[in-house]
This record gives sequence, structure tokens and C-alpha cells, in this order.
Amino acid sequence: MAISYIGNIPNTHVRDHQRKRLYQAEEECSFWDDINVLSINNIKHLVDNISEWAEIKPPTIILEGNTHVYATQDTIVLPYTDTQTIPFICHEMSHVINYNSTNADHHGRNFAYTYLKVVRQFIGLKSYKELLGSFRKHKVKYRRKRMQRRGPKIMTIKNGRKSIHNIAAENPSCKICKLFIEKQIA
Ligand SMILES: [Zn+2]
Repeated sequence: MAISYIGNIPNTHVRDHQRKRLYQAEEECSFWDDINVLSINNIKHLVDNISEWAEIKPPTIILEGNTHVYATQDTIVLPYTDTQTIPFICHEMSHVINYNSTNADHHGRNFAYTYLKVVRQFIGLKSYKELLGSFRKHKVKYRRKRMQRRGPKIMTIKNGRKSIHNIAAENPSCKICKLFIEKQIA
């Protein structure tokens, strides 16, 4: 459970509006009772696996010399043995993933969505359902859907050539996307 705004993180202007509710919601889940302290090798293994699954660079793991538990884009800090557990690592790694996205929002709806996915993948379906139920109970907002790319809209323009609109909703200026789609059409 990171205390907000420690370390170099993006979007510090975004208010961490549902942190308390999210903490309450996760605390009531039985998978948070897992207090089994992982070995350094197992921590590294789990962090590497989550990073690979999320397609991000594995963060530096700091296990000593800090007073706070937190995560940034490239670091995960777990200075106490009672935080070197699967639920803590899943929570903090969800921050690392969120801070590597274009939608960094601390404990906001994008974080909550990522956290649900991490729990489902690395703890299990039962825990995922439990967390989902608890989010609903505590009115924790989470993003419902993946970020969607709008499909290309192909139009025939005057001279008979094809024109493509709405290439990538997230990055409409992406020339590589455009070239790639043009190739597919050809
Ligand atoms: Zn947190």
C-alpha cells in the first residue's frame, strides 16, 4: 500500500481520490491474509513474471533502507518482511504497471482495473472475484474495458484511391500504424 507521491512518479496532479476505499476493500479479502514471507529469489521471480506478463521493464527491487512501502515507474520498495508477500507484491506491481501506462492514476479506476487483472493472473480466479465483490461493496471504481482502438475506416476518395481514417484512437498521428494498415489493405 503505497503512501502517495513518494519517489518520482507521473501525474502527481491527479488526485488519489479512492485510496482509502481501495485499502478497505482489499483488507477484507481473504487473499490478503497470506502473510507468507517470500525469499529474495521468489520475490524477484514474481516481479519478473508480472513484468513480463504486463510487457514492462522489470523494476529495481529495494528491500532495505527505506521507511515506506511504495512503487514508481521503475522501482518497487518493500522494506519490511511483512510486505514481502504475494498480496503486497501484486498491489505494488500494479502501481509499477499503472505508472508505465499513459493513464497513471495512483489508486484510481485504471489502477483498480490493473490490480484486478494482476490478482486474477497471479493469485487466482477466486481471489479476483472476491476483490471484485469487495470493490463493488466499497464503491471502488475500476475501468470496465480495455482501452479500445477504433478500427480503421476505409473510404474511397475521388480519384479511386483508398483513404484511411481513425487509425488508432490513442495515437491518431502514428504514421507507422497508418503504413501498417495501408499494407494490410493492399
Ligand atoms: Zn497502493
